[in-house]
Amino acid sequence: MQILKNRIIQDGVAVSTEILKVDSFLNHQVDVTLFDLIGAEFRTRFDDIAKNVDKILTIEASGIAVAAFTAKYFNSVPVVFAKKDKPTTMTDGYYFAEVMSFTKRAMTAIRVDKKFLKTGDRCLIIDDFLAHGQAALGLVHIAKDADAEILGAGIVIEKEFQGGGDKLREKGIRVESLAVVEKIENGEIFFKA
Ligand code: 5GP
Repeated sequence: MQILKNRIIQDGVAVSTEILKVDSFLNHQVDVTLFDLIGAEFRTRFDDIAKNVDKILTIEASGIAVAAFTAKYFNSVPVVFAKKDKPTTMTDGYYFAEVMSFTKRAMTAIRVDKKFLKTGDRCLIIDDFLAHGQAALGLVHIAKDADAEILGAGIVIEKEFQGGGDKLREKGIRVESLAVVEKIENGEIFFKA
């Protein structure tokens, strides 16, 4: 998605060879015009399965806004987001997965209340970044526990060199990434053609 790549080049900061900071439009401040285009682009990419999507599944915090804009283009299906803390209100049963947080470098438990994910739900995963694949694999694990189905994963920025995309594809999950970063070197961001 060229407009997204241009924005990453313009406003993204290569914090290291591993981490890209895009706070000004994706992770701290949200550019709603761009998010709307992102939602439309996910619809184009997944148009063949769009009518089958029952729910969009994501993980807090940054996934939520992207997922919400995307849902508009998928018949406004519900957006279910995994929570990283166990709220006191989550008193009934929940699905659970342990994931290594890329940004916090620590294990985090993610949870989805059983009320919001049902047997047979066909889900599209949407997230801001795909790095080592931990967050997405956690969602896949939760969906499996719920006997729900994953139809695919839509990712805003995939850092290909960290291998998460391969892990998902090896599991037979279709991954559509709007910008694929091949490497980050000397502060420069290189995209896959
Ligand atoms: P993974 O679980 O695939 O290793 O990492 C994905 C999660 O970590 C995303 O949900 C995202 O929040 C965060 N993340 C991974 N890489 C980056 C990055 O380069 N920049 C930012 N801002 N977040 C990242």
